[in-house]
Amino acid sequence: MMRQYELVERVTRYDPDADEDLLNRAYVYAMRAHGNQTRASGEAYFNHPLEVAAILTEMKLDSATIAAALLHDTVEDTEATQAEIEEKFGPEIASLVDGLTKIAKLDLVTREAAQAENLRKLLLAMSRDVRVLLVKLADRLHNMRTLEHVKPEKRLRIAQETMDIYAPLAGRMGMQAVRDELEDIAFKVLNPEACKIVIDRLAKLHAESGGILKSIEQELTQKLVENGIKAEVHGREKRPYSIFRKMERKLLSLGQLSDIFGFRVIVGTVDQCYRALGIIHRTYRAVPGRFKDYISTPKQNDYRSIHTTVIGPHHMRVEMQIRTRLMHEIAERGVAAHAIYKDAPDAKEALDGFRAPAAESNAYRWLRHLVEMLQEGESPREFLEHTKLELFHDQVFCFTPKGKLIALPRGATPIDFAYAVHTSVGDSCVGAKVNGSHAPLVTELRNGDEVEIIRSEAQTPPAAWEGLAVTGKARAAIRRATRAAARKQFAGLGHEIVQKMLAKIGKTYVPKEMAAAIARVGLRNVDDALAAIGRGELSAIDMLKAMGHTIDDTKLRELRRRPPAKKTDPDLSVPVRGVARTTALRISPETGAVPGERIVGILMPGEGITIYPIFARALEQFDNQPERWVDLAWDTGAEEQRFPARLTVTILNEVGSLAQMTQSISDLGGNIDALQMVAREGARDFYDVDITIEVHDLRHLNEIMTSLRGKPAVSDVSRKTG
Ligand code: MN
Repeated sequence: MMRQYELVERVTRYDPDADEDLLNRAYVYAMRAHGNQTRASGEAYFNHPLEVAAILTEMKLDSATIAAALLHDTVEDTEATQAEIEEKFGPEIASLVDGLTKIAKLDLVTREAAQAENLRKLLLAMSRDVRVLLVKLADRLHNMRTLEHVKPEKRLRIAQETMDIYAPLAGRMGMQAVRDELEDIAFKVLNPEACKIVIDRLAKLHAESGGILKSIEQELTQKLVENGIKAEVHGREKRPYSIFRKMERKLLSLGQLSDIFGFRVIVGTVDQCYRALGIIHRTYRAVPGRFKDYISTPKQNDYRSIHTTVIGPHHMRVEMQIRTRLMHEIAERGVAAHAIYKDAPDAKEALDGFRAPAAESNAYRWLRHLVEMLQEGESPREFLEHTKLELFHDQVFCFTPKGKLIALPRGATPIDFAYAVHTSVGDSCVGAKVNGSHAPLVTELRNGDEVEIIRSEAQTPPAAWEGLAVTGKARAAIRRATRAAARKQFAGLGHEIVQKMLAKIGKTYVPKEMAAAIARVGLRNVDDALAAIGRGELSAIDMLKAMGHTIDDTKLRELRRRPPAKKTDPDLSVPVRGVARTTALRISPETGAVPGERIVGILMPGEGITIYPIFARALEQFDNQPERWVDLAWDTGAEEQRFPARLTVTILNEVGSLAQMTQSISDLGGNIDALQMVAREGARDFYDVDITIEVHDLRHLNEIMTSLRGKPAVSDVSRKTG
């Protein structure tokens, strides 16, 4: 346990004018008041207020706040009275302690009405003096750090309340460090499996690239020094919960999440921030569209920094945050930093403005605004709505026609809404009405929308929906449903194959016979076997043999002749959604297919699935076999991967034409995979070039096609349709 003199010393180190006498009196008073009380962990209760005070010394807060922290549980939990506190410590401290006492027992995760009323009390108490909020957050932080000693049910409730109210509140107040720690502890309690997966993955990544972080740190520091900028460069890992949230929001798997590592570059002045940015962009390749200047446009919670993402060594994407020391303090400590720094950049000078903490900051203004609204007497329900909207600015709140509140992440669509109501509602969703009128399923929902889901039991969710959904729940359910549907299709196909083969040897299909032979092919049931045959993983002839049918050699040769199960190296790495990972996939060699264009899969008996772009002529032959069509969608994010596309380019029959064409393609980063000249009938001035190029996606392909069309030697460019 921290000693009395240690606490006082901590405060006087950053505030030499601190009221030592006040700190000493508060320490002794609280220690006596808590007497022999113990905490759930068995340690002396007084250790808790002491730790809370210690957290606040890290934020360098004034002696009144530290004293209030020491006293914060005395009126609530001991014989001490409000009157006594006022008499011994004066009105300022008494008012802080009073605020803390009032909010001590507020339960913020109960029924909606009570929750609204309690949240209202909480904000009201905190808005009188922002230091109440600071002590409360430190109090919660220490309680979270010692949460393992609390009984399981209570632990869950506290963690939920922290995730719902206190962490967003800390974030809204700009106290990033507190928010991160609160979220990570709550995440571990509320979702232990997900938390473990993220942490394990982080450990693995760290082991693989730990050395790189150090080398980038050194390289960057060196580069900056060479350019006359003294900077602190720190490599850092994203926090587990912030990674998890990003995965949920951006629809990424852990493997796809590339910018897990980040760097903070802390420099002296704003001018140096921009110069450092220039140096970073000259040293590493910048990822387009990832540059954000929160210095010229600060966030609502006063956060200022420049963000950019670059491609570091080993093709690793790393995020850089560039800021001054003062911006860094504010980013980490928010309102608490304002309390000291207020307007003056020099810390010592700023301490003079200490007694009017944070009055000027945006974050504090927000709190004030909420309270003004309270005083205008809104109903608790309205208030809760408004507060939640303000507090959780990355969420939207929508309603079912019966008025049930459904909270969704920003960017959510009616599909997410449907799955949030119930998986069966999502699976059978065919349309939606938003606020009474029909709306496309891609509509981004807004706060307060009333959403009615139109259902049909015959529906299976198309794979493409996975890209429209934002929530993990919806995406997982769609994946499950589309996989189940594809499996059913394969089983149907397998059934057809088995029936035809049996007919050829003069037998009929009897499900019971097949069931009896299942063990012999190492599968669990008839459906599995039929699906395996449909996918080509199990030969139908082997199945027939397992069923006890004897097939003589001539018959066998005949059966093998048709269908000619040509194994054309299926590519398991084609990134599409809508089928199981184990399904063999190939892109139609006649047309190629690239991410960004609409694709469909066709079940090929015994081969897996062939992927066609929707315009492929080959698809016409399957028009009457809807059971063979599989709805697929690209699973984008694989940036380095390339995909084939076949083009016909009509060029002038003259020297240099071909070179002009190939140069233009390679200038734009396209790979030429195959090229063939085809003479044009009756047109000797031109000839056609049939060319297969490899590109990243549809945009890349279009760029190349546009550039080709602009070449004088090129008269026409088109996609091959098959
Ligand atoms: Mn407490």
